[in-house]
This record gives sequence, C-alpha cells and structure tokens, in this order.
Amino acid sequence: MAKLILKPGREKSLLRRHPWIFSGAVARVEGGPATGETIEVRASTGAFLAWAAYSPASQIVARAWDFRESARVDRAWFRQRLQRAINMRNAVLGAAVARSARLVHGESDGLPGIVADRYADTVVLQLTSAGAYHWRDSVVELLAELTSAATVFERSDADVLELEGLPPSVELRRGAPLSGPVPFEENGLRFQADLARGHKTGFYLDQRDNRALLRTLAEGRDVLDCFCYTGGFTVSALAGGAASVLAVDSSADSLAAAGAHLELNGLTGAELLEGDVFQVLRRLRDQARSFDLVVLDPPKFAPTAALAERAARAYKDINLYAFKLLRPGGLLLTFSCSGGVSRELFQKIVAGAALDAGVDAQILRSLGAAPDHPIALEFPEGEYLKGLLCRVAGRAH
Ligand code: SAH
Repeated sequence: MAKLILKPGREKSLLRRHPWIFSGAVARVEGGPATGETIEVRASTGAFLAWAAYSPASQIVARAWDFRESARVDRAWFRQRLQRAINMRNAVLGAAVARSARLVHGESDGLPGIVADRYADTVVLQLTSAGAYHWRDSVVELLAELTSAATVFERSDADVLELEGLPPSVELRRGAPLSGPVPFEENGLRFQADLARGHKTGFYLDQRDNRALLRTLAEGRDVLDCFCYTGGFTVSALAGGAASVLAVDSSADSLAAAGAHLELNGLTGAELLEGDVFQVLRRLRDQARSFDLVVLDPPKFAPTAALAERAARAYKDINLYAFKLLRPGGLLLTFSCSGGVSRELFQKIVAGAALDAGVDAQILRSLGAAPDHPIALEFPEGEYLKGLLCRVAGRAH
C-alpha cells in the first residue's frame, strides 16, 4: 500500500477529522500511487492518520475516506457509507426522499467528491475528485441498487474538475436514454430538471425549505424574484397566494423553463423579465416601483475567499437596491451561496446595504440549505448557502 507522510506537526487537522490534505503539508509520498488510488496517510512520527484518495494534480493532494486504521476502503465500505447517507434522508425527510432530495453531499457525508441527487426515479451523480472518479463504477452500481432508481445519470462537469486535473464526464450510466427534462415533485409542486444542461444537477434542491418558507409569506404580496433561474421561488410565491410576481433572470432558457413550471402548476400572475438584475433593480427604482417581498438568490459571486472583496460589493449593491424597493413592512429573502463569504460577513454586507438604503430593518430568521445538505461538524466548508429573512420597519430618516 502506498504511503503519504506528513511534515512534522501537520497532522492536526486530520486528528480533528477534517478530510483534506494540502500539498504543502506533505513530506513525501512512497510507493508511486496512481491517481485516485487509496493510500495510507501517516504523521512524521509514523502514527496512522487516515486512508485517503490520492490526487497528485490537486492542491488538495489527498482526501480522507476513513480515519480508522482497521477500515478497508472497498466496495462494501462504499455500500455502507452510501446506505448511511440515504438512511439519514429517509429519517429526516420521510417519503419526500422518493420525490426529490440530495442523497449524498460529499465531504459532509464522509464521501469526498461525491454528490448524488434524486429526482423521482432518476439519480444524478456528480463527481469532483480523483478518488470519486476511481470508484465511479461501484458508486453507480450501488446507488442503483440502494435506491432502486431506474436511471443513473452522471453529470460530472463542475468547474473544480479543472483544478483536480480531471476530464468532464456527462453520460447516462444506467437505464433508458432521457427523453427530456425529468419531472418531479417538491413540496407538492411540480417541476422538471434538465439533467444534462441545467445548473448543478438540474435544480437547486438546497433551497427547498426556503421556497416552502416563501410560500407561507407570499399571500397578497407583490413579489420581486431576482435571479429566478427556472422559477422555483416564483412558483412557490404564486402557490402561496402572491398578488403578483416579477421574475428576473439573464438567461432566456431559464425563463422559458420557469414559464413551463408555471404552466405545469396551473399558476398565473407572473411576469418573466430577461435582464441583468443589477440594471433591472436600478430601472425599477427609477420607475418608482415598489414591492412587498424581494428574493435575491444570485449565483456564486465568490467561489473562493480570494474573490470575497469583489463579491462583497456585488452583494451590497443588489441588497441596497432591494431595500430601496421594499414598502414599509416589506420582506427581503436574501442569499449568498459563495463559499468565500462567511455567514458573519454576509450579515455585515446586508447591514451595510440597509444603512446606505436608509431603512430600518431586522433579521427575522437566519436561513441555510435544507437538511439533505448537511454540514459535517468537522467540515465547516460545507456551509456554503447562507440566507437572511429581513423585515423593513420603515425609513430610517
Ligand atoms: N433562485 C434560483 C436559483 C438561482 S441560480 C432557484 O431557486 O432555482 C442564479 C441565476 O442567476 C441563474 O439562473 C443565472 O442565469 C442568473 N444570473 C446570473 N447573473 C445574472 C445577472 N447579472 N442578472 C440576472 N440573472 C443573472
């Protein structure tokens, strides 16, 4: 078995069960392991630390599978880990798991680089690490077996693959060829996921609970849904009795999918507007338009901490204009899915936006991803989606 030996004192994070081993911490690698192969990780003292997947092309040169020396990373091991992840969803979400859920959430489920989402009878697999690529066939077979899903589609084309030195892989792995977007249900509403071309695996399952929350808040309100994508929030607002929804996105394809979702649910009352949210917010302000509820769910402005400053300006800008457009008593549902922006920083940015917009606002709720996107306690990087529900009391001056 090949070995990776750490520099003196660099074992601390592994002892706390953080799964990533950065190249700077490595003293040497013995035994010439192949990419994705399981290696033994040891401290400079020789003490065993973990079994890990070797990834020589990445800054994260190994990702730990297991911290027990007695463990054996084989097909049976993957079966157990996948089953454990699926059991958690069954326990927490119940029957909804069969309709739509994230079954496996990477590092936070002890499966670095492996994500699996379920849409009705189809499982979409997204792999992002050399170790995950190495075990692909087993993972596909096991997911099909454990879920009884008819179809397994691989959607490994995330940007991070380039940093890992891995080729994209978008392919049907099990079942009949897809005839179009896959229909599924969420919170009793009907949607479709375009597995091959949609964002992520086709839909933002992480926002499920926040869409349900919006539904309870929307009655009689004029809603502005910014960065609406395929209309998850828009559909939920109308289902909750919103008086009107203006939904904005820069992608014509996404808006067409949003239109299809409205039709699928027999909902009317939404205007779908193609445009750049940064400009649309200003235009709405110039037109003296106002709303009772604004949703801001932008794309990742800061994929890494290095880009946090530029991202902070963008978040500040949209939140500031959203506050300006809200009537007294109005609600702002605002999100950041940037790994590089912490919850604390996000709250500061939103506070600064309220101040500059000249409104008094309070946080009613702090929000995050739905529980099928857990955060392992030893892996704080798992907390990427941060949200705030704010209420505008009135003008500050
Ligand atoms: N709220 C959505 C997910 C949003 S994803 C949901 O719950 O499903 C982010 C969306 O922002 C994408 O659809 C993308 O097309 C859109 N987008 C990115 N930059 C934009 C911009 N400057 N103006 C408008 N839309 C933008």
